[in-house]
Amino acid sequence: MVDLDLQRRTELTDRVHAAMPGVLSDLKDLARIPSVSLDSFDQAEVDRSAAAVAALLEAEGMQVQVVREGGRPAVIGRIPAPEGAPTITLYAHHDVQPPGDDADWDSPPFEPTERDGRLYGRGAADDKAGVMAHIAALRAHGGRPPCGVNIFVEGEEEIASDSLPAILDKHGELLRAEAIVLADSTNWEIGTPALTTTLRGMIRVVVTVRTLDHGVHSGIFGGAVPDALMALIRVLASLHDDAGTVAVQGLSASEASDLPYDEARLRDESGLLDGVGTVGTGSLLTRMWTKPSITTIGIDAPAVDRAANLLVPTARAKVSMRLAPDQDPKAAYELLAQHLREHAPWGAQLDIQLDDEGEGFAADATGPVYDAARASFADAWGTEPVDMGIGGSIPFVAAFAERFPDAAILVTGVEDPDSRAHGANESLHLGEFEKVCVAEALLLERLGEHRG
Ligand SMILES: [Zn+2]
Repeated sequence: MVDLDLQRRTELTDRVHAAMPGVLSDLKDLARIPSVSLDSFDQAEVDRSAAAVAALLEAEGMQVQVVREGGRPAVIGRIPAPEGAPTITLYAHHDVQPPGDDADWDSPPFEPTERDGRLYGRGAADDKAGVMAHIAALRAHGGRPPCGVNIFVEGEEEIASDSLPAILDKHGELLRAEAIVLADSTNWEIGTPALTTTLRGMIRVVVTVRTLDHGVHSGIFGGAVPDALMALIRVLASLHDDAGTVAVQGLSASEASDLPYDEARLRDESGLLDGVGTVGTGSLLTRMWTKPSITTIGIDAPAVDRAANLLVPTARAKVSMRLAPDQDPKAAYELLAQHLREHAPWGAQLDIQLDDEGEGFAADATGPVYDAARASFADAWGTEPVDMGIGGSIPFVAAFAERFPDAAILVTGVEDPDSRAHGANESLHLGEFEKVCVAEALLLERLGEHRG
């Protein structure tokens, strides 16, 4: 499946190049639709973007349906496999994150704008460029790829894909394939493509601490009676040791790949302030990709400007824990809850609620489909792809892996380290984007040559 003659390779590369102006124009049209899937935004826009995606897929000659199982609309397009050829399912999502404050953007979030070889706009990268990469690959093949192609464009990835399992239950047969490309991740750096082979899982809990029946005067009772915030701070502080390593015992952890990633790059990418050190132990990528981490992401306590001289009776915190790729979230929850209970000081009452959970992912990144993908990336970039991890979680990856255990699952993406997905000034590197499209067109060709 790896061999592909030079002439055909050149032909497909040229066709993608010729298709790029149209692809870019369609991408801009999609990115103008503010398809924010969060409840508090106008959901008619998500419907409108589903319809726009459906129209694009129909124009490629696909059989298209818009499906919805209690959540946001997803679009399924299909081109059946030629006799004896395998089928590939290509995933992307058409919903986007909220734009945040317009003032933080250098150009309006929903008016895609080109500057210095990048396209700026909410969804310009995450993940409307993923949608257009799949369409570009089809266009390179004149809408008649040598393998079966399903395109599945989800409408609620940014709100955790809640109805995706129901969609896969009801319509999964339409998406059955030998290979599944989930194009919602990132490449390693400009000029170096990557396959994402591990993702961390996650759990989120809400911890409520109670020490008093009601708030009382801090001058009168302070010193003898613990307030809830005092207890909560102790509990939260117990979650890390002095080096900032997760102190919850029994969690799984493993070593990440040895890709070069030094502290200077981490400081640059994360905006770590001068003089502030890193936390944890082991290589930086191991800390971010394959070991657990714990972050307190919110605390309910009296606001500073309204604070009274009071011992507060109740305080709560939301704690997010990222898990090693192979960690079972339920088991991690039990370990975290046990740790929290054991570290509640002075008999403070603790209530712990599981707020959310998501499985990690560790690909078996071997076999003919992976070989074909790596060869296609190498052709498109002129350099071999690397295997990388992501410290974040992508709930839908586990949903696909569970539903299609026999398929080779490839996590690819259009982003690069400067894409700022979810942030202000999200952008797509247009040179890299064309390579993503070429790689996918070549992958379809290689799969098509692999007749069963
Ligand atoms: Zn995304």
